[in-house]
Amino acid sequence: MPQVRSEGIILKIVNWKENSRIVTFFTDNAGKQSIIDRGGRSLKSKRGRLQSFSLLDIGYFKSEKSGTGYLSDVEPLEQFSFEKEGTLGRLAFASAALEILNDLLAEDEPHPELYDLTVQFLRLADRAPKGGLYGLFIAYFLKTLSYLGYRPNFAGCVACGKGKEAVSLNNGVTGEPFFLFSPERGGIVCLSCQMMGEYYIRLQFEHQEMIYGLQTASLAEAAAVKVRMDDGDEILELLTSFFKYQTEAKELKSLKFLEKLKRVGRNPS
Ligand SMILES: [Zn+2]
Repeated sequence: MPQVRSEGIILKIVNWKENSRIVTFFTDNAGKQSIIDRGGRSLKSKRGRLQSFSLLDIGYFKSEKSGTGYLSDVEPLEQFSFEKEGTLGRLAFASAALEILNDLLAEDEPHPELYDLTVQFLRLADRAPKGGLYGLFIAYFLKTLSYLGYRPNFAGCVACGKGKEAVSLNNGVTGEPFFLFSPERGGIVCLSCQMMGEYYIRLQFEHQEMIYGLQTASLAEAAAVKVRMDDGDEILELLTSFFKYQTEAKELKSLKFLEKLKRVGRNPS
């Protein structure tokens, strides 16, 4: 069996028979890899510690016949401790990012650019000021979705291509402009392209601008944008709804955790 060396981040660990476990990594050169860690749960295992939220140097053997990987050694390269102010929020956003990857990536498909983006995201989630976490995560979420072929359209009508000025609607009472976003069609929809019975999410005018800005910003720029919690939550609700419609992925547990934090009064940002 040829030995492979990768740099990687742990996406998930599940216990397997006896003292073994299956570790799913996102690696720099081989994409998502689920690797068997034989005897890894035994205290005597000398394979090295499997630290979550770390960049790890991983060695594993890969069977050419079955494609099964067997872990041989692990060495930590960089650890993200999320010790700065807002630890729980940092953890929730970092976990959500890894959940999205685990849901969307197929095994054995290399995505080196997405790997680099994820490392950059984790570094910023560790170090960015607390107020920048929502902007950072929303930008990462949008970029990851786009990278994997699910790019929501906020620039104009997703059906006819009309510019956003022609797509915005007005609240009859307050005159406030807003958009209707279809998670199913993956974008904002103008009045003439709306369909009876279709499900829309109302998108505030300022939120459209915010999302559009974050979609085109670098992660570092996004982490410097202050997004208020209420605004961030509304945008995340829209994006997770889009994510579920488009990918058939389940609820993002880590974001649910974020909501729970707020309910008990622990402001995550
Ligand atoms: Zn239209």
